[in-house]
Amino acid sequence: MADTFLKPLLWHKISSKLSEQQHKPGLYLVATPIGNLMDITLRAIDILGSAACVLAEDTRQTKKLLSFYEIDQRVISCHEYNEQTIASTIEHGKIYAFVSDAGTPTISDPGYRLVQYCVNKGIEVIPIPGPCAPIAAICTAGLPTNHFTFYGFSDSKSNGRRILIKQLRARSETAIFLESPRRLLNFLKDALELLDNRQVCICRELTKIHEEVFRGSLIEAIDHFSHNEPKGEFVIVLAGNDSSKTQEEITDVIPRLKELLKTCSLKDAVSTLSEETLFPKKQLYSYALKLQQEQDNEFN
Ligand code: SAM
Repeated sequence: MADTFLKPLLWHKISSKLSEQQHKPGLYLVATPIGNLMDITLRAIDILGSAACVLAEDTRQTKKLLSFYEIDQRVISCHEYNEQTIASTIEHGKIYAFVSDAGTPTISDPGYRLVQYCVNKGIEVIPIPGPCAPIAAICTAGLPTNHFTFYGFSDSKSNGRRILIKQLRARSETAIFLESPRRLLNFLKDALELLDNRQVCICRELTKIHEEVFRGSLIEAIDHFSHNEPKGEFVIVLAGNDSSKTQEEITDVIPRLKELLKTCSLKDAVSTLSEETLFPKKQLYSYALKLQQEQDNEFN
């Protein structure tokens, strides 16, 4: 393993830069490590140390981080249930740091009410970007990143989860889910049943000792996690519906499209076929239009 690059000289340069910084007052949303304590920005450390106080989702968790960086600070509990009350104590002209247990505050974590309150009160809200499990996962997945949807935690109840997964059938963008180890296999099995054997990337324990990135099809993922009990924290990155269907694949469904066009409107025929085959409506629409014109010409 290579020696660390963090030389004393570098620290010297950084500390002189930091002392030049003037912090404007406001609410700082500070991203904190999602595992490896070294994943924190220098600005984050600086703000945590210089704020009037740190508002934290879980004070015990945050105190561990502060103690690692030898930051002596007042930590006030601020979670989903007292966010509104804490928000009302925020004053103009002071610096507040807000942190969640891990990662970026407000992303499947408390904080947005606090942000809303500050925005309404004219208190500036300043992000200190950094670790975020869903973003780390999608970057690592090797799946398209130009469009993606973050769904947070899927419904813990089977029915709700299946309704949500069904909605992904015709969606072409990559989807990101947070999932508990207990529900991981159920999620994958539902996805296979309700979608198709799509590519998936499952990120486990990112930045931690047992970090694992599994890439493969849903069938392969189910096989893998059936033999390796899911443990730890997970993000699922699921490929979207592949809209680049080949000419050959489209030709296979033309007879069914013809049949549907005899009994339903063009719009309904396209919707039904898209539901049945998972082909994108847009692509089917142009074929349906052509077929309908041919059928009209036959009758005239
Ligand atoms: N705000 C956080 C962020 O920006 O990463 C996410 C908070 S959410 C309550 C916690 C969930 O994120 C976990 O249950 C897990 O699904 C995912 N997660 C957090 N840390 C992770 C890690 N190190 N590796 C994989 N997934 C992680």
